[in-house]
Amino acid sequence: MMAAHTYGGVPVPYTVSWSAEEAFRVDRCPHANRMAICHEVAPGQGKPQFGKPHSQRQREAIADDLCDLCGRTLRNKTKVSLSHARPRANGAEGLAILQVEPLLHRQCAATSLRHCPSLKRDVAAGTVVIRQVNRHRVQFAIMSSEYVGTLVPGYQAKSEDRIAGHAKVELLRWVDRDAAWLLRTAEDRP
Ligand SMILES: [Zn+2]
Repeated sequence: MMAAHTYGGVPVPYTVSWSAEEAFRVDRCPHANRMAICHEVAPGQGKPQFGKPHSQRQREAIADDLCDLCGRTLRNKTKVSLSHARPRANGAEGLAILQVEPLLHRQCAATSLRHCPSLKRDVAAGTVVIRQVNRHRVQFAIMSSEYVGTLVPGYQAKSEDRIAGHAKVELLRWVDRDAAWLLRTAEDRP
């Protein structure tokens, strides 16, 4: 599977924002099903802003189970998490992980690892963990009016506003994996 865009020969994840998309507004987001912080929409225009996810595409990927890299469905596929997030106790449900990075196809996770130097470094250092995800669910962060005001000039906060920011994937069941597993299994399925 291929990324929707490449830049200088490097695959650009579906959820990455581009320099032509920098302006924010508050609008209804169909993925969060509420008012939300929204970016301009101009994927592929200007330069990719690696490390800065596009608000709507980040929520879309997580809410609709799309791959972070290629933007295609993850339904009935092996799902892989590449995340800095650590497991935390979650009451009766045991350990859970709350991450802002959308999940990936196994092959797309391998492609990301091959092309992204910072990811490669973080996996080697153990600060990014590779996980095969068996059960997960979706959450949306609700942002304070003050925060929304800093992003959207002229935004008039109302006390009843509950403006969504990013989506979060909550991992409920997973298996810890390593780079060798990721790269080996990806080769098995060209
Ligand atoms: Zn993919």
